[in-house]
Amino acid sequence: MKETIVSIATALSSSGIGIIRISGEEAVEIADRIFRKPNGKKLSEVSSHTVHYGHIVDEDGTVVDEVIVILMKAPHSFTKEDVVEIDCHGGIFLLKQVLNLCVKAGARLAEPGEFTKRAFLNGRIDLSEAEAVMDLISSSNEAARRNSIGQLSGRLHRKIISLREKLIYEIAFIESAIDDPEHYDTGDFINRLTDVVDSCEKELKKLLLSFENGKYLVSGINCTIVGKPNVGKSSFMNLLLGEDRAIVTAVAGTTRDTLEETISLDGITLHLVDTAGIHETEDEVEKIGVKRAKESIERAELVFFVLDSSDKISAEDLELTPLLSSKKVIVLLNKSDLNLGGTTEEDVEKAFSGRIENMRILSFSAKTSQGLTELTDVIKDLFYHGELNADEELYLTSIRHKTLVENADMALLHVKESLQMNMPEDFYAIDLMQCYSSLGEIIGEEVDDDLVDEIFSKFCMGK
Ligand code: GDP
Repeated sequence: MKETIVSIATALSSSGIGIIRISGEEAVEIADRIFRKPNGKKLSEVSSHTVHYGHIVDEDGTVVDEVIVILMKAPHSFTKEDVVEIDCHGGIFLLKQVLNLCVKAGARLAEPGEFTKRAFLNGRIDLSEAEAVMDLISSSNEAARRNSIGQLSGRLHRKIISLREKLIYEIAFIESAIDDPEHYDTGDFINRLTDVVDSCEKELKKLLLSFENGKYLVSGINCTIVGKPNVGKSSFMNLLLGEDRAIVTAVAGTTRDTLEETISLDGITLHLVDTAGIHETEDEVEKIGVKRAKESIERAELVFFVLDSSDKISAEDLELTPLLSSKKVIVLLNKSDLNLGGTTEEDVEKAFSGRIENMRILSFSAKTSQGLTELTDVIKDLFYHGELNADEELYLTSIRHKTLVENADMALLHVKESLQMNMPEDFYAIDLMQCYSSLGEIIGEEVDDDLVDEIFSKFCMGK
């Protein structure tokens, strides 16, 4: 922690600017060794949080780049240490040269995530907030971004702290009562503790439930579009994509292979696979497509099963149902604009009930986009219990956090069992403490160095 670290903080590709970041006790001195302001002033002489124009020079005084330098003195910086950021021109060779000069001037190359690790170790952010930094960088949709920024702003931190405060109060009470039984009235204690345990348990269960939603929020939902040829699968995919990507024709069996795309539907990320019509076929090319379609159903978390509402449900459609029995399925009664009523919602219900467990049926038109709003609502209902509010709701997104919440929940279960069996206080004080510690690990209290190293090693360089 004493050493001053340096890294290229921006992506290593040619770009407008590239930023070199230096952090540590000697950041200002090191920068002063390679940076020249036109007025000859040193960074050590200027105020914090100021911006300076000048040049980076090598050992011979030769100008290497024309730069802007930002000075952020401890403790008001990302790492809580002295930080100097050098905005260079964004060339890979150039950035490496400036980086080398910083190293020659006394800085050490930073490990991946080391800046954020310092922010954590110096107490600027907790571990859950540090992890949110990476989630924020890798977020690929609006909901995921909002959730990460919420976590970075301490949403999870505050929840954990409030749970831990309740627990530590009871733990302290038990310990004092054991040490000094004469002065503690434990008469009402059991009822109070039962209430506290119940309310904490409720909150933990809610967090665990949010993980399911959080997973889809961050990674998106793997979907596949299946159905007989010519029912409108490609048209449906095109409607979602908002452009003519898949080839749409009136000849059956034209989607020969699978097409994969990622889209965002009202903040929900969908990874879509459009398959060739699943049906037994002699055509060799199509056979490959059919095999892939079956595979894509296996991988899918959501299946769009497209039917042509102007046509009757056929044996081919029914043959598909064994593959869909345990999947979340949305049956799209497509071509509703034709109003031909070949297949109604009741017909689908009758034909598929008992065959597909988790099914929703929607009247739909890929041509007029009738049903698209309802489709969005159905997806939210199936995957987010009807709600998707990344601004206010807290979603657990990390497996590490989920496991720790599960441990905490398990410990509370043990407390409840002990209470029901009238066990002595010191017996369940251990479980309460276990719950307290597990929650502490989420925010980075009571974690060992190896774990901290492992978490930050997954960070990108320069962060
Ligand atoms: P796929 O083989 O299942 O991919 O079906 P396509 O998307 O290629 O569509 C087959 C035919 O049905 C094309 O002529 C489409 O224009 C037409 N079609 C698709 N969806 C609709 C719809 O909602 N309404 C009407 N009227 N025609 C549609």
